[in-house]
Amino acid sequence: MHYVILLAVLFAGFIIFRTITFKTHTTNNNQDNYVIKTNSQESIKHLSDAIKIKTVSNINYEELDYKPFEDFIEFLKSTYTNIHNSMEFKRINNYGLVYKWNGKDKDKKPLLFLGHYDVVPVEQGTEDDWEYGPFSGEIAENKIWGRGSLDIKSQIIALMETAEKLIEEGYVPERDIYFAFGNDEEVGGKTGALKISEYFEINKIFFEAVYDECGFVAIGAIKGVDCQIAQIGIAEKGYCNIKIKSASSGGHAAMPPQNTALGVIAKAICKIEKNPMPAYLCSPVANMIKNIGGEKGFIFKMLVANMWLFKPLIIKILANSPNDNAMIRTTIANTMCKASDAPNVLPQSAEAVMNARLLPGDNSQKLIDHIKNLVKDYDIEVEPLSIREPSEISPIDTKGYKKLENTIKEIFPNIIITPYLVVGGSDSRKYYNVCKNIYRFTPFIVNDEEMKAFHNTNERITIENFNRMIDFYKKFIVDFDK
Ligand SMILES: [Zn+2]
Repeated sequence: MHYVILLAVLFAGFIIFRTITFKTHTTNNNQDNYVIKTNSQESIKHLSDAIKIKTVSNINYEELDYKPFEDFIEFLKSTYTNIHNSMEFKRINNYGLVYKWNGKDKDKKPLLFLGHYDVVPVEQGTEDDWEYGPFSGEIAENKIWGRGSLDIKSQIIALMETAEKLIEEGYVPERDIYFAFGNDEEVGGKTGALKISEYFEINKIFFEAVYDECGFVAIGAIKGVDCQIAQIGIAEKGYCNIKIKSASSGGHAAMPPQNTALGVIAKAICKIEKNPMPAYLCSPVANMIKNIGGEKGFIFKMLVANMWLFKPLIIKILANSPNDNAMIRTTIANTMCKASDAPNVLPQSAEAVMNARLLPGDNSQKLIDHIKNLVKDYDIEVEPLSIREPSEISPIDTKGYKKLENTIKEIFPNIIITPYLVVGGSDSRKYYNVCKNIYRFTPFIVNDEEMKAFHNTNERITIENFNRMIDFYKKFIVDFDK
Protein backbone atom coordinates (compact mmCIF):
# COMPACT_ATOMS: atom_id res chain seq x y z
CA MET A 1 0.00 0.00 0.00
CA HIS A 2 2.84 2.38 0.91
CA TYR A 3 4.27 1.89 -2.54
CA VAL A 4 1.01 2.97 -4.18
CA ILE A 5 0.96 6.17 -2.12
CA LEU A 6 4.64 6.78 -2.77
CA LEU A 7 4.10 6.31 -6.50
CA ALA A 8 1.13 8.67 -6.48
CA VAL A 9 3.15 11.34 -4.67
CA LEU A 10 6.07 10.93 -7.07
CA PHE A 11 3.73 11.12 -10.04
CA ALA A 12 2.03 14.28 -8.73
CA GLY A 13 5.47 15.78 -8.06
CA PHE A 14 6.51 14.99 -11.62
CA ILE A 15 3.41 16.66 -13.05
CA ILE A 16 3.91 19.76 -10.88
CA PHE A 17 7.62 19.92 -11.69
CA ARG A 18 6.82 19.88 -15.40
CA THR A 19 4.23 22.61 -14.83
CA ILE A 20 6.56 24.92 -12.92
CA THR A 21 9.41 24.50 -15.39
CA PHE A 22 7.13 24.88 -18.43
CA LYS A 23 8.37 27.74 -20.61
CA THR A 24 5.31 29.71 -21.54
CA HIS A 25 6.31 31.81 -24.50
CA THR A 26 9.05 33.13 -26.67
CA THR A 27 9.38 36.87 -26.07
CA ASN A 28 11.90 38.80 -24.03
CA ASN A 29 9.95 40.17 -21.13
CA ASN A 30 10.43 43.66 -19.72
CA GLN A 31 12.05 45.10 -22.80
CA ASP A 32 11.54 48.81 -23.41
CA ASN A 33 8.66 49.70 -25.66
CA TYR A 34 9.57 50.27 -29.28
CA VAL A 35 9.68 53.93 -30.34
CA ILE A 36 7.99 54.49 -33.69
CA LYS A 37 10.24 56.24 -36.21
CA THR A 38 7.87 56.94 -39.11
CA ASN A 39 6.08 60.23 -38.77
CA SER A 40 5.09 61.45 -42.19
CA GLN A 41 1.94 63.48 -42.85
CA GLU A 42 2.34 62.50 -46.48
CA SER A 43 2.03 58.76 -45.76
CA ILE A 44 -1.09 59.35 -43.70
CA LYS A 45 -2.58 61.45 -46.48
CA HIS A 46 -1.86 58.63 -48.95
CA LEU A 47 -3.82 56.10 -46.90
CA SER A 48 -6.63 58.62 -46.54
CA ASP A 49 -6.68 59.12 -50.34
CA ALA A 50 -6.66 55.36 -50.94
CA ILE A 51 -9.73 54.93 -48.70
CA LYS A 52 -11.62 57.59 -50.67
CA ILE A 53 -11.58 55.39 -53.79
CA LYS A 54 -14.63 53.11 -53.56
CA THR A 55 -13.14 49.82 -54.70
CA VAL A 56 -16.08 47.73 -53.51
CA SER A 57 -16.06 44.18 -54.87
CA ASN A 58 -19.24 42.30 -55.75
CA ILE A 59 -19.91 38.58 -55.97
CA ASN A 60 -21.96 39.39 -59.12
CA TYR A 61 -19.01 40.42 -61.26
CA GLU A 62 -21.23 41.70 -64.08
CA GLU A 63 -22.68 44.34 -61.74
CA LEU A 64 -19.23 45.59 -60.77
CA ASP A 65 -18.18 49.17 -61.49
CA TYR A 66 -14.51 48.93 -62.53
CA LYS A 67 -13.97 52.70 -62.67
CA PRO A 68 -12.81 52.94 -59.02
CA PHE A 69 -10.42 50.03 -59.61
CA GLU A 70 -8.89 51.91 -62.55
CA ASP A 71 -8.75 55.02 -60.36
CA PHE A 72 -6.95 53.10 -57.62
CA ILE A 73 -4.32 51.79 -60.04
CA GLU A 74 -3.85 55.33 -61.39
CA PHE A 75 -3.56 56.61 -57.79
CA LEU A 76 -0.77 54.12 -57.06
CA LYS A 77 1.02 55.14 -60.27
CA SER A 78 0.92 58.86 -59.58
CA THR A 79 1.67 58.55 -55.85
CA TYR A 80 4.53 56.05 -55.94
CA THR A 81 6.73 57.34 -58.73
CA ASN A 82 9.97 55.74 -57.52
CA ILE A 83 8.27 52.36 -57.48
CA HIS A 84 6.78 52.80 -60.92
CA ASN A 85 10.08 54.04 -62.33
CA SER A 86 12.23 51.26 -60.95
CA MET A 87 10.05 48.20 -60.35
CA GLU A 88 8.51 46.00 -63.04
CA PHE A 89 4.76 46.42 -62.95
CA LYS A 90 2.20 44.03 -64.47
CA ARG A 91 -1.57 43.89 -64.53
CA ILE A 92 -2.71 40.27 -64.43
CA ASN A 93 -6.20 39.57 -65.77
CA ASN A 94 -6.71 43.38 -65.81
CA TYR A 95 -7.01 44.13 -62.11
CA GLY A 96 -4.54 41.87 -60.34
CA LEU A 97 -1.43 43.98 -59.65
CA VAL A 98 2.10 42.60 -59.52
CA TYR A 99 5.23 44.59 -58.73
CA LYS A 100 8.71 43.13 -58.99
CA TRP A 101 11.53 44.81 -57.10
CA ASN A 102 14.82 43.51 -58.48
CA GLY A 103 17.29 42.31 -55.89
CA LYS A 104 21.05 41.68 -56.00
CA ASP A 105 21.21 37.92 -55.69
CA LYS A 106 19.25 36.02 -58.32
CA ASP A 107 20.13 32.67 -56.71
CA LYS A 108 18.03 33.51 -53.67
CA LYS A 109 14.34 32.76 -53.94
CA PRO A 110 12.19 35.92 -53.90
CA LEU A 111 9.77 37.06 -51.18
CA LEU A 112 6.12 37.81 -51.90
CA PHE A 113 3.94 40.29 -50.03
CA LEU A 114 0.19 40.12 -50.63
CA GLY A 115 -2.71 42.46 -50.07
CA HIS A 116 -6.09 43.19 -51.61
CA TYR A 117 -7.42 46.59 -52.59
CA ASP A 118 -11.09 45.65 -52.81
CA VAL A 119 -13.27 46.32 -49.77
CA VAL A 120 -16.65 45.10 -48.55
CA PRO A 121 -19.68 47.35 -49.11
CA VAL A 122 -21.20 49.57 -46.45
CA GLU A 123 -24.55 48.14 -45.43
CA GLN A 124 -27.33 50.30 -46.82
CA GLY A 125 -28.92 52.55 -44.24
CA THR A 126 -25.93 52.48 -41.90
CA GLU A 127 -23.96 55.29 -43.60
CA ASP A 128 -25.13 57.84 -41.01
CA ASP A 129 -24.05 55.64 -38.11
CA TRP A 130 -20.42 56.34 -39.02
CA GLU A 131 -18.67 59.04 -36.99
CA TYR A 132 -17.01 60.09 -40.25
CA GLY A 133 -18.17 59.04 -43.73
CA PRO A 134 -17.29 55.45 -44.70
CA PHE A 135 -15.32 56.65 -47.73
CA SER A 136 -14.25 60.01 -46.31
CA GLY A 137 -10.73 58.92 -45.38
CA GLU A 138 -11.12 61.48 -42.60
CA ILE A 139 -8.03 62.05 -40.46
CA ALA A 140 -9.39 62.78 -36.99
CA GLU A 141 -8.87 61.76 -33.35
CA ASN A 142 -5.43 60.37 -34.27
CA LYS A 143 -7.07 57.88 -36.60
CA ILE A 144 -7.69 57.41 -40.29
CA TRP A 145 -11.35 56.54 -40.89
CA GLY A 146 -13.13 54.50 -43.51
CA ARG A 147 -13.64 51.23 -45.32
CA GLY A 148 -10.34 49.50 -45.98
CA SER A 149 -8.43 51.21 -43.18
CA LEU A 150 -8.17 47.88 -41.32
CA ASP A 151 -9.06 45.48 -44.14
CA ILE A 152 -6.65 46.02 -45.79
CA LYS A 153 -5.63 49.07 -47.77
CA SER A 154 -3.44 50.00 -44.81
CA GLN A 155 -1.25 46.98 -45.56
CA ILE A 156 -0.92 47.86 -49.25
CA ILE A 157 -0.18 51.51 -48.56
CA ALA A 158 2.30 50.66 -45.78
CA LEU A 159 4.17 48.31 -48.16
CA MET A 160 4.19 50.94 -50.92
CA GLU A 161 5.36 53.69 -48.54
CA THR A 162 8.15 51.42 -47.32
CA ALA A 163 9.39 50.54 -50.80
CA GLU A 164 9.03 54.10 -52.12
CA LYS A 165 11.23 55.45 -49.30
CA LEU A 166 13.78 52.64 -49.48
CA ILE A 167 14.20 53.19 -53.23
CA GLU A 168 14.64 56.92 -52.58
CA GLU A 169 17.41 56.07 -50.11
CA GLY A 170 19.14 54.01 -52.79
CA TYR A 171 18.38 50.69 -51.13
CA VAL A 172 18.53 47.55 -53.27
CA PRO A 173 17.11 44.38 -51.71
CA GLU A 174 19.30 41.30 -51.34
CA ARG A 175 16.80 39.17 -53.25
CA ASP A 176 13.86 39.91 -55.56
CA ILE A 177 10.76 41.11 -53.76
CA TYR A 178 7.29 40.90 -55.25
CA PHE A 179 4.08 42.66 -54.23
CA ALA A 180 0.82 41.13 -55.47
CA PHE A 181 -2.45 42.94 -54.81
CA GLY A 182 -5.78 41.24 -55.50
CA ASN A 183 -8.99 42.96 -56.58
CA ASP A 184 -11.61 40.50 -55.33
CA GLU A 185 -10.42 38.86 -52.10
CA GLU A 186 -13.66 39.72 -50.35
CA VAL A 187 -15.66 37.67 -52.86
CA GLY A 188 -13.32 34.69 -53.23
CA GLY A 189 -10.32 35.94 -55.22
CA LYS A 190 -11.02 34.00 -58.42
CA THR A 191 -10.23 36.86 -60.84
CA GLY A 192 -7.37 38.32 -58.78
CA ALA A 193 -5.26 36.10 -56.52
CA LEU A 194 -6.08 32.90 -58.40
CA LYS A 195 -4.92 34.37 -61.71
CA ILE A 196 -1.82 35.94 -60.17
CA SER A 197 -0.79 32.64 -58.58
CA GLU A 198 -1.29 30.90 -61.94
CA TYR A 199 0.87 33.56 -63.58
CA PHE A 200 3.67 32.88 -61.08
CA GLU A 201 3.41 29.15 -61.58
CA ILE A 202 3.43 29.36 -65.39
CA ASN A 203 6.49 31.61 -65.23
CA LYS A 204 8.19 29.33 -62.68
CA ILE A 205 8.45 32.04 -60.06
CA PHE A 206 8.62 30.24 -56.71
CA PHE A 207 9.03 31.99 -53.38
CA GLU A 208 11.07 31.65 -50.22
CA ALA A 209 8.06 32.89 -48.24
CA VAL A 210 4.69 34.60 -48.74
CA TYR A 211 3.18 37.15 -46.34
CA ASP A 212 -0.48 38.12 -46.18
CA GLU A 213 -3.20 39.44 -43.88
CA CYS A 214 -5.36 37.70 -41.19
CA GLY A 215 -3.20 37.48 -38.08
CA PHE A 216 -2.20 40.58 -36.10
CA VAL A 217 -1.27 41.66 -32.61
CA ALA A 218 -4.38 41.27 -30.49
CA ILE A 219 -5.21 42.35 -26.99
CA GLY A 220 -7.84 40.34 -25.16
CA ALA A 221 -8.39 37.97 -28.10
CA ILE A 222 -8.09 34.90 -25.90
CA LYS A 223 -10.17 34.57 -22.76
CA GLY A 224 -8.07 34.56 -19.63
CA VAL A 225 -4.93 35.87 -21.36
CA ASP A 226 -4.27 39.56 -20.69
CA CYS A 227 -1.05 40.17 -22.60
CA GLN A 228 -0.64 41.01 -26.27
CA ILE A 229 -0.47 38.08 -28.64
CA ALA A 230 0.98 38.14 -32.14
CA GLN A 231 -0.88 35.50 -34.10
CA ILE A 232 0.66 34.23 -37.31
CA GLY A 233 -1.80 32.29 -39.46
CA ILE A 234 -0.16 29.14 -40.84
CA ALA A 235 -3.26 27.36 -42.16
CA GLU A 236 -6.88 28.07 -43.08
CA LYS A 237 -9.99 26.01 -42.54
CA GLY A 238 -11.91 24.82 -45.58
CA TYR A 239 -15.55 25.31 -46.44
CA CYS A 240 -18.29 22.98 -47.65
CA ASN A 241 -22.03 23.37 -48.18
CA ILE A 242 -24.04 20.15 -48.23
CA LYS A 243 -27.69 19.66 -49.16
CA ILE A 244 -29.74 16.77 -47.78
CA LYS A 245 -33.03 15.96 -49.46
CA SER A 246 -35.94 13.66 -48.64
CA ALA A 247 -38.85 12.87 -51.01
CA SER A 248 -42.37 11.61 -50.28
CA SER A 249 -45.65 11.32 -52.12
CA GLY A 250 -47.18 14.49 -50.63
CA GLY A 251 -50.93 14.80 -50.16
CA HIS A 252 -53.44 16.34 -47.75
CA ALA A 253 -52.14 17.33 -44.34
CA ALA A 254 -55.32 15.92 -42.69
CA MET A 255 -54.14 12.34 -43.34
CA PRO A 256 -50.39 12.47 -42.75
CA PRO A 257 -47.96 9.53 -42.55
CA GLN A 258 -46.04 9.12 -39.31
CA ASN A 259 -43.12 11.10 -40.74
CA THR A 260 -43.44 13.73 -43.45
CA ALA A 261 -40.46 14.46 -45.69
CA LEU A 262 -39.76 17.41 -43.40
CA GLY A 263 -39.95 15.14 -40.34
CA VAL A 264 -37.33 12.88 -41.91
CA ILE A 265 -35.06 15.85 -42.56
CA ALA A 266 -35.59 17.02 -38.97
CA LYS A 267 -34.54 13.60 -37.64
CA ALA A 268 -31.44 13.69 -39.81
CA ILE A 269 -30.53 17.17 -38.56
CA CYS A 270 -30.91 16.03 -34.94
CA LYS A 271 -28.63 13.08 -35.59
CA ILE A 272 -26.01 15.24 -37.32
CA GLU A 273 -26.02 17.74 -34.44
CA LYS A 274 -25.68 14.95 -31.87
CA ASN A 275 -22.75 13.38 -33.72
CA PRO A 276 -20.15 16.03 -34.62
CA MET A 277 -17.03 15.24 -36.59
CA PRO A 278 -14.23 13.95 -34.32
CA ALA A 279 -12.12 16.56 -32.52
CA TYR A 280 -8.33 16.66 -32.72
CA LEU A 281 -5.49 19.13 -32.31
CA CYS A 282 -4.00 19.99 -35.69
CA SER A 283 -0.47 21.40 -35.49
CA PRO A 284 -1.32 25.16 -35.64
CA VAL A 285 -3.76 24.72 -32.76
CA ALA A 286 -1.49 22.44 -30.74
CA ASN A 287 1.30 24.99 -31.15
CA MET A 288 -0.95 27.84 -30.10
CA ILE A 289 -2.11 26.00 -27.00
CA LYS A 290 1.50 25.33 -26.04
CA ASN A 291 2.42 28.99 -26.54
CA ILE A 292 -0.45 30.62 -24.70
CA GLY A 293 -1.67 27.86 -22.40
CA GLY A 294 0.80 28.83 -19.71
CA GLU A 295 -0.84 32.25 -19.43
CA LYS A 296 -4.32 30.96 -18.64
CA GLY A 297 -3.78 30.18 -14.96
CA PHE A 298 -2.06 27.33 -13.09
CA ILE A 299 -4.56 24.56 -13.83
CA PHE A 300 -4.58 25.12 -17.58
CA LYS A 301 -0.80 25.51 -17.53
CA MET A 302 -0.56 22.12 -15.80
CA LEU A 303 -2.70 20.53 -18.49
CA VAL A 304 -0.66 22.10 -21.29
CA ALA A 305 2.71 21.30 -19.69
CA ASN A 306 1.60 17.67 -19.57
CA MET A 307 -0.16 17.46 -22.89
CA TRP A 308 0.95 13.80 -23.31
CA LEU A 309 -1.38 12.97 -20.43
CA PHE A 310 -4.11 15.58 -20.56
CA LYS A 311 -4.74 15.99 -24.30
CA PRO A 312 -8.22 14.39 -24.15
CA LEU A 313 -9.15 16.68 -21.24
CA ILE A 314 -7.88 19.78 -23.08
CA ILE A 315 -9.98 18.83 -26.11
CA LYS A 316 -13.00 18.36 -23.83
CA ILE A 317 -12.54 21.82 -22.29
CA LEU A 318 -12.09 23.47 -25.69
CA ALA A 319 -15.19 21.76 -27.07
CA ASN A 320 -17.32 23.66 -24.55
CA SER A 321 -16.99 27.06 -26.20
CA PRO A 322 -18.10 27.63 -29.83
CA ASN A 323 -14.97 29.72 -30.53
CA ASP A 324 -12.57 27.07 -29.25
CA ASN A 325 -14.61 24.22 -30.69
CA ALA A 326 -14.15 25.73 -34.16
CA MET A 327 -10.39 25.27 -33.70
CA ILE A 328 -10.49 21.57 -32.90
CA ARG A 329 -12.93 20.03 -35.33
CA THR A 330 -14.75 20.35 -38.61
CA THR A 331 -17.90 22.17 -37.55
CA ILE A 332 -21.29 21.65 -39.15
CA ALA A 333 -23.98 24.33 -38.93
CA ASN A 334 -27.46 23.51 -40.19
CA THR A 335 -28.50 26.79 -41.74
CA MET A 336 -31.32 26.44 -44.31
CA CYS A 337 -34.49 24.37 -44.67
CA LYS A 338 -37.27 24.14 -47.26
CA ALA A 339 -40.42 22.01 -47.43
CA SER A 340 -44.09 22.52 -48.34
CA ASP A 341 -45.37 25.93 -49.49
CA ALA A 342 -48.60 25.77 -47.47
CA PRO A 343 -49.52 24.69 -43.92
CA ASN A 344 -52.13 22.14 -45.12
CA VAL A 345 -50.04 20.53 -47.87
CA LEU A 346 -47.69 17.60 -47.19
CA PRO A 347 -44.30 18.32 -48.73
CA GLN A 348 -43.40 16.18 -51.76
CA SER A 349 -39.83 16.88 -50.85
CA ALA A 350 -37.93 18.59 -48.08
CA GLU A 351 -34.37 19.72 -48.01
CA ALA A 352 -31.87 21.35 -45.70
CA VAL A 353 -28.48 22.89 -46.27
CA MET A 354 -25.62 22.77 -43.81
CA ASN A 355 -22.44 24.83 -43.82
CA ALA A 356 -19.32 23.01 -42.68
CA ARG A 357 -15.85 24.40 -41.94
CA LEU A 358 -13.17 21.81 -42.60
CA LEU A 359 -10.25 21.45 -40.23
CA PRO A 360 -6.82 20.83 -41.84
CA GLY A 361 -6.40 17.07 -41.71
CA ASP A 362 -10.07 16.50 -42.62
CA ASN A 363 -11.39 16.93 -46.16
CA SER A 364 -14.75 17.19 -47.89
CA GLN A 365 -14.88 13.46 -48.65
CA LYS A 366 -14.45 12.54 -44.97
CA LEU A 367 -17.26 14.96 -44.13
CA ILE A 368 -19.60 13.61 -46.83
CA ASP A 369 -18.91 10.04 -45.68
CA HIS A 370 -19.65 11.09 -42.09
CA ILE A 371 -23.01 12.63 -43.09
CA LYS A 372 -23.94 9.70 -45.35
CA ASN A 373 -23.19 7.26 -42.58
CA LEU A 374 -25.38 9.18 -40.11
CA VAL A 375 -28.40 9.35 -42.42
CA LYS A 376 -28.09 5.88 -43.93
CA ASP A 377 -31.22 4.61 -42.19
CA TYR A 378 -33.36 7.34 -43.72
CA ASP A 379 -34.25 7.71 -47.36
CA ILE A 380 -32.12 10.79 -47.87
CA GLU A 381 -29.92 12.08 -50.69
CA VAL A 382 -26.68 13.83 -49.74
CA GLU A 383 -25.33 16.35 -52.23
CA PRO A 384 -22.28 18.60 -51.80
CA LEU A 385 -22.96 22.08 -53.23
CA SER A 386 -19.67 23.92 -52.95
CA ILE A 387 -16.32 22.78 -51.67
CA ARG A 388 -13.13 24.55 -50.69
CA GLU A 389 -10.71 22.13 -49.10
CA PRO A 390 -8.69 23.26 -46.04
CA SER A 391 -5.32 24.79 -46.84
CA GLU A 392 -2.01 23.09 -46.35
CA ILE A 393 -0.20 23.84 -43.08
CA SER A 394 2.86 26.07 -43.47
CA PRO A 395 5.94 24.85 -41.58
CA ILE A 396 7.35 27.05 -38.82
CA ASP A 397 10.95 25.82 -38.85
CA THR A 398 11.73 28.01 -41.87
CA LYS A 399 13.74 31.15 -42.44
CA GLY A 400 10.53 32.91 -43.52
CA TYR A 401 8.83 32.21 -40.18
CA LYS A 402 11.86 32.85 -37.97
CA LYS A 403 12.65 36.19 -39.63
CA LEU A 404 9.04 37.25 -39.13
CA GLU A 405 9.25 36.24 -35.49
CA ASN A 406 12.47 38.26 -35.07
CA THR A 407 11.00 41.46 -36.46
CA ILE A 408 7.84 41.03 -34.36
CA LYS A 409 10.03 40.68 -31.25
CA GLU A 410 11.81 43.94 -32.07
CA ILE A 411 8.78 46.03 -32.95
CA PHE A 412 6.41 44.54 -30.35
CA PRO A 413 8.45 43.68 -27.27
CA ASN A 414 6.75 41.84 -24.39
CA ILE A 415 4.26 39.82 -26.35
CA ILE A 416 3.55 36.17 -27.06
CA ILE A 417 4.16 35.09 -30.65
CA THR A 418 2.25 32.07 -31.82
CA PRO A 419 1.16 30.30 -34.97
CA TYR A 420 -2.61 29.88 -35.26
CA LEU A 421 -5.34 28.46 -37.44
CA VAL A 422 -7.31 30.96 -39.56
CA VAL A 423 -11.00 30.10 -39.29
CA GLY A 424 -11.97 32.39 -42.20
CA GLY A 425 -10.11 32.69 -45.49
CA SER A 426 -7.71 34.93 -47.38
CA ASP A 427 -6.10 35.21 -50.81
CA SER A 428 -2.93 33.56 -49.54
CA ARG A 429 -4.36 30.00 -49.67
CA LYS A 430 -4.21 30.29 -53.46
CA TYR A 431 -0.42 30.60 -53.43
CA TYR A 432 0.53 27.15 -52.10
CA ASN A 433 1.25 26.24 -55.75
CA VAL A 434 4.27 28.57 -55.66
CA CYS A 435 5.30 28.42 -51.99
CA LYS A 436 4.72 26.19 -48.97
CA ASN A 437 5.84 28.85 -46.47
CA ILE A 438 2.82 31.14 -46.25
CA TYR A 439 2.41 33.35 -43.18
CA ARG A 440 -0.58 35.56 -42.43
CA PHE A 441 0.31 38.50 -40.24
CA THR A 442 -0.37 42.24 -40.44
CA PRO A 443 1.82 44.24 -38.07
CA PHE A 444 -0.86 46.27 -36.29
CA ILE A 445 -2.33 46.10 -32.79
CA VAL A 446 -6.06 45.56 -32.62
CA ASN A 447 -8.04 45.98 -29.42
CA ASP A 448 -11.54 44.67 -28.69
CA GLU A 449 -13.27 47.81 -30.02
CA GLU A 450 -11.30 47.80 -33.27
CA MET A 451 -11.86 44.08 -33.71
CA LYS A 452 -15.58 44.78 -34.08
CA ALA A 453 -14.85 47.39 -36.77
CA PHE A 454 -13.66 44.89 -39.41
CA HIS A 455 -16.32 44.79 -42.18
CA ASN A 456 -18.40 47.02 -39.89
CA THR A 457 -19.40 50.59 -39.07
CA ASN A 458 -16.62 52.97 -38.01
CA GLU A 459 -13.74 50.98 -39.46
CA ARG A 460 -10.60 53.01 -38.66
CA ILE A 461 -6.93 52.60 -37.91
CA THR A 462 -4.86 54.60 -35.44
CA ILE A 463 -2.09 56.71 -36.95
CA GLU A 464 0.26 55.06 -34.47
CA ASN A 465 -0.60 51.65 -35.88
CA PHE A 466 -0.15 52.78 -39.46
CA ASN A 467 3.22 54.41 -38.79
CA ARG A 468 4.39 51.32 -36.94
CA MET A 469 3.42 49.15 -39.92
CA ILE A 470 5.77 51.14 -42.15
CA ASP A 471 8.58 50.78 -39.60
CA PHE A 472 7.86 47.06 -39.43
CA TYR A 473 8.00 46.42 -43.16
CA LYS A 474 11.15 48.48 -43.53
CA LYS A 475 12.91 46.56 -40.79
CA PHE A 476 11.62 43.22 -42.01
CA ILE A 477 12.75 43.74 -45.62
CA VAL A 478 16.14 45.21 -44.70
CA ASP A 479 16.89 42.58 -42.02
CA PHE A 480 15.68 39.52 -43.92
CA ASP A 481 19.09 38.54 -45.25
CA LYS A 482 21.20 39.91 -42.44
ZN1 LIG B 1 -9.00 41.35 -46.09
